Amino acid sequence: MSITADNSIQYDAIVIGAGVVGPAISTALARQGRKVLLIERDWTQPDRIVGELMQPAGLKALKSLGMIEAVNNIEAIHVDGYSIFYHGEQLIIDYPEKSVSHKIQDVPCCATNENSKIVSDSTLDAKYFEENEREVGVAFRHGEFISNLRSIAKKQPNLTCLKGTVIKIEKNDLGHVTGVMVNETDRSKVVYNAHLTICCDGIFSKFRKTLGQSNVPTVGSHFISLTLENAELPSPNHGHVVISNEAPILIYQISPVETRILCAYRSPKLPTVNDVKLKKYLNETVYNIIPESIRPSYKNALLNSRIRIMPNSYLVAKRNEIPGLFVMGDALNMRHPLTGGGMTVGLNDAVLLAKLLSPDKIESFADHSKVLDQFMEFHHERKSLDSVINVLSIALYSLFSADSKYLVILQKGCFHYLTKIPYPIALLSGLVPEPFMLFKHFFAVAFFSIMFNFRENGLVMFPVSIYEAIFTLYTAIVVFTPYMWQEIVS
Ligand SMILES: Cc1cc2nc3c(=O)[nH]c(=O)nc-3n(C[C@H](O)[C@H](O)[C@H](O)COP(=O)(O)OP(=O)(O)OC[C@H]3O[C@@H](n4cnc5c(N)ncnc54)[C@H](O)[C@@H]3O)c2cc1C
Repeated sequence: MSITADNSIQYDAIVIGAGVVGPAISTALARQGRKVLLIERDWTQPDRIVGELMQPAGLKALKSLGMIEAVNNIEAIHVDGYSIFYHGEQLIIDYPEKSVSHKIQDVPCCATNENSKIVSDSTLDAKYFEENEREVGVAFRHGEFISNLRSIAKKQPNLTCLKGTVIKIEKNDLGHVTGVMVNETDRSKVVYNAHLTICCDGIFSKFRKTLGQSNVPTVGSHFISLTLENAELPSPNHGHVVISNEAPILIYQISPVETRILCAYRSPKLPTVNDVKLKKYLNETVYNIIPESIRPSYKNALLNSRIRIMPNSYLVAKRNEIPGLFVMGDALNMRHPLTGGGMTVGLNDAVLLAKLLSPDKIESFADHSKVLDQFMEFHHERKSLDSVINVLSIALYSLFSADSKYLVILQKGCFHYLTKIPYPIALLSGLVPEPFMLFKHFFAVAFFSIMFNFRENGLVMFPVSIYEAIFTLYTAIVVFTPYMWQEIVS
């Protein structure tokens, strides 16, 4: 790795972490002429079960950053939308037409004609993306995507990559962040200085607490993952969501051969791979509720694939108010991974930050007061996209993992609402970042569910239906409002 990192100079920006967001923001700033140091503890290709399905709005952000080539030559699979299985019924919802989507402007100095279009490769067809009337997403092996992002970053002349683990955020007497302390392979506790330190150290961030001691995520459930080989998917090129009496299951192809299955497990505590209850859940419950055509490859994976477990965390974004420090990506903000929105939020945040810090707006990052003003604007401007994606992820998880009578009523209503009005996919994919539309559709689902329940119960049960209507509405309010409120006022 580069040994040109220089601890005697002042960088414009130090970026901690080269996962999804780190290379994106580093590249953008370097292209804008800033001197950037990108520090990553492990530059080998990651082998993780996260960040494998990118929503169309995530692709748009990559285009706007001029980094769309990161999805090329990694055997990525195009994704047209979702296929939902609800107690044996199936519903296919494709991404919306392009005319519905909000536009994202290009980031100054980043996007060109060459670097903002997907090119055809062994699995992706450029024409399919360009000429399609509808929006399209992609799914891929996470590690290869990250390697591509890192390669783009490494090509930037103003950007130095350093292998090392950041162990401390350095501050001066005024409490302003001045840089970081790093343990490198052959020397420890090296201090690097920068006007701005951007922290993108991911889900298990060590440094998010710099924004406040109480800034810690909550974990409500876990995802148990296996890799299926040559799975026969009922709806190729779609994310599959299986809704049953259990927590939801997510299945999507990540390469021509591999398919990811993520089984939600209702436990805030980390289950162990050898846990008897977990084994029974995977061997019996999941096996019986996934579509039949997938079962042979799933059975095979139970014998041969490594079981991996990740927490499903939630964290509301806290304002970046410390001079010299900016926290972003999962370190700043997390939502339930059910809707695959994390990379979309992180990359759109990179787009927004790079626009707000571009040289025509900020001459030098040393001007802390001006930079802080831009951070405040960032915080307000990002709300529309992040509140929609975050709140929807939590609301859908609550409905799809329904564990009470009233959530079951909402779950049933939601499925049947989607058969008539598929619009919520425009919100889920990040293409329509309008919190009011989310509010409108969520409560439309609630009222639809209540009406559906009236119809199902029939006249004889009318008094019971009234009682259930009140509690169903109350449940909908409890599921939705506190999260929306937190997102809006934070
Ligand atoms: C089970 C699961 C499935 C998911 N699936 C999807 C999906 O399909 N689609 C989607 O959009 N999102 C998904 N997400 C969310 C997505 O993975 C994250 O939002 C995204 O990876 C966040 O990017 P990041 O750059 O903030 O963090 P990361 O990608 O985690 O990168 C953090 C980087 O920082 C480095 N690092 C950490 N500490 C240090 C240190 N002290 N010094 C130096 N380097 C350090 C790490 O090595 C790592 O490379 C999923 C999440 C989970 C939990």
